[in-house]
Amino acid sequence: MRIRPRYVRDRLTLQYLLTVGLVLGAYIFGAALLLYWQLTSQLYHAEIQDVETVEGLFYFLPDGVLALHEEYLNHPRDKLLLDRLMEVLTPEGQILFRNERLAGREMGGPPVSGEGQSSYDQRTIRLADGTRVQCISHLHFIDGRPLLIRLGHSTDPLMHRIAEFLGLMLLALPIALVASALAGYRVAGKALRPLKEMTLQTEQITANRLSNRIPVENPDDELGQMAGVLNGLLQRLEESFKHLERFTSDVSHELRTPLASIRSVGEVGLQKEHSAEGYRDIVGSMLEEVARLTQMVDDLLTISRADAGQTVLSRKDFPLLALTREVAGLIEILIEEKGQRVVVEGNERICVHADPSVLRHAVLNLLDNAVKYAPAGSRIRVRLKWAPAESSSSDRVAELSIEDEGPGIAPEHRARVFDRFYRIDEARTREAGGAGLGLSIAKWAVEIHGGQIGYRPADPAGSIFFIRLAAFES
Ligand code: ADP
Repeated sequence: MRIRPRYVRDRLTLQYLLTVGLVLGAYIFGAALLLYWQLTSQLYHAEIQDVETVEGLFYFLPDGVLALHEEYLNHPRDKLLLDRLMEVLTPEGQILFRNERLAGREMGGPPVSGEGQSSYDQRTIRLADGTRVQCISHLHFIDGRPLLIRLGHSTDPLMHRIAEFLGLMLLALPIALVASALAGYRVAGKALRPLKEMTLQTEQITANRLSNRIPVENPDDELGQMAGVLNGLLQRLEESFKHLERFTSDVSHELRTPLASIRSVGEVGLQKEHSAEGYRDIVGSMLEEVARLTQMVDDLLTISRADAGQTVLSRKDFPLLALTREVAGLIEILIEEKGQRVVVEGNERICVHADPSVLRHAVLNLLDNAVKYAPAGSRIRVRLKWAPAESSSSDRVAELSIEDEGPGIAPEHRARVFDRFYRIDEARTREAGGAGLGLSIAKWAVEIHGGQIGYRPADPAGSIFFIRLAAFES
């Protein structure tokens, strides 16, 4: 079963505890191994010295029995030597000597082939009673006779010391673990406190209080960065909420005017009897308002689709000038009504890779504005040419400009004419039929293609609206 505490603080503490436990455990066993290795190598070196010492003390009695000089037994150099076990054999395996400590027990059995010949052979063996012994073998000549000297020492005291060390360490382990768990719990609590505060603050934020922000203590640490990201999100949410509010109130305002006008025309019509001609006029002006409303609803639909990011462009390659001519054809009646002249000229071979139905919105709205705002009988020039190449980019850009002889746009309005519902002269433009959406739709239609839309004054008077798009020559 996997334990997964509910709170991050508990999880952090548990992980910390497990890590400390593992590290400490590994450290203890590592230290015990090191101790074992050190003690056995110390023992090995002491045993070699002992072998060298006893080799000088063995001698054969006249009757051929092997003996050891007494003085050595009386002055052992250190305590360890008292515990030594010693056996001397002929290379054939005949036992010549066993010390008292060995008490007649066998130490290592018959000689192994080559045992002790080249140097001091070391191995660990078990005596008959189970005692573990580290044994050194060395071949030595006394009075010309080869003797295999085996010197051993029980490793029990050594293991005992290691067990003592391990026991002590393991006894201290739970204390260390409890202490580190407490420390870990405290540190995790401290680290998470700002997060808790942030949670409390975020809980206070509702749709009505989107201007609240999460306090940032240190903007550079992880929590500060998270708070920064959340604050950015809140900022965007607040802006979209405000935008939506403004949009809704603008839409209601715009819809109210034509509706009120339909209603008043209708009421006037009902107040008294009219001739058939009179009724036709009334219905005609009501239909005019309905057409305006329909246009606005269409525009709003385009805008809301654009806002929702639902527009899927179906791009194809086509010549831009042909599209412009087609658009001019669509509003030919309006142009004729005002007695204006539209000149479309430029490079016929400039093609764009775009969605013609979306781009048509942009060209139509710009041309429609030129017709609407320029005086009757004036000339409108539509020109397509290559834009001056920008040094930073290798792509070619075409510019479609629409120039009229209208009133132009005063510098203070230029930055805002592309905003939704922005009209320079409300009374005048409403009369001309605009709701202030045309340029914002044109801007969207151009920018969704990665292009640019802009305004510059014409010389000597009038407006030039231009569209710049990546293009190629067919
Ligand atoms: P509308 O639907 O009212 O025309 P637009 O978004 O198309 O709205 O234009 C915004 C404002 O910019 C208009 O109210 C108008 O005053 C001004 N404008 C647009 N085009 C021209 C132009 N060619 N000449 C002068 N003013 C223009």
